[in-house]
Amino acid sequence: MSPLRRWLPLLFLLAGPLPAEPPPNSSLSPDVTRFILANSEFTVLHEMGHLLIAELDLPVLGREEDAADQLGLIGLFLLHGEQRDADFYAKLLDIVDFWRLEWQRPKPAAEEVPAWDSHGLDAQRFYNIACLVYGSDPERLEWVPELTGLPMERALYCDEEYQQVRKAVDWVRGRYRHAAIQTTPRFQVIYDPPPVNVPDAEVLIAQVRASSNLETLARRASATFALPRALILRLSGCGTPDAWYNRNTGELTLCYERLQHFRQLAETLPRLHQPTAPGQ
Ligand SMILES: [Zn+2]
Repeated sequence: MSPLRRWLPLLFLLAGPLPAEPPPNSSLSPDVTRFILANSEFTVLHEMGHLLIAELDLPVLGREEDAADQLGLIGLFLLHGEQRDADFYAKLLDIVDFWRLEWQRPKPAAEEVPAWDSHGLDAQRFYNIACLVYGSDPERLEWVPELTGLPMERALYCDEEYQQVRKAVDWVRGRYRHAAIQTTPRFQVIYDPPPVNVPDAEVLIAQVRASSNLETLARRASATFALPRALILRLSGCGTPDAWYNRNTGELTLCYERLQHFRQLAETLPRLHQPTAPGQ
């Protein structure tokens, strides 16, 4: 079966309306779990982009929110090294899927990102991220533009976009890396008690903890960069599906409500991702 045919269900989904609410279910399927973990990781990496900009006093050309997305996505590639396997591509597509769902889901006007916001519009973030994913390896990922709806006019230059961003991140790594390997993590990961208003919070938290993704992130950031002070990555109930970095306190927060938001969006997706990525 051709790569495209194997992924046609997603194209079908992209053309249709999105269901507003997923069915209630206290257990998580492997696909939903992967979606939650992938997007939690990218969310923390995005916030870590803000953290690096603040803590290392990085120069920023362009909008900081775009730079944080770029730092976050390249961070994902760096974390996985040369291990570009089906699981990694599925993770990248989960992140692309999230931004499409976030863009296209029915939502109240108050939740729409206004044009004047410091963040790009969800649709723009979707296309930017899809472009960097495709541009990371256009030969192996030649199916990505058609699958995601990334227009060829943009896709044509995505390899250059990826190389440009990669060069900037590599410069930061070279300029601010530790002179010697640091063994004591500067990042402490703290899990606050689960809030009562998040359904199945314990289940979601257990999955995140079991993956060790966030602990790995904190450890790698500590080992890679000469951070000027001890920092905290806190998972907490906030009353909103958000995440942020507070440069005054040195705390990066990922809200439990955001895990629940990922879950709700994931459960609007049929089980689409194949265990083996196309082209492999
Ligand atoms: Zn941000």
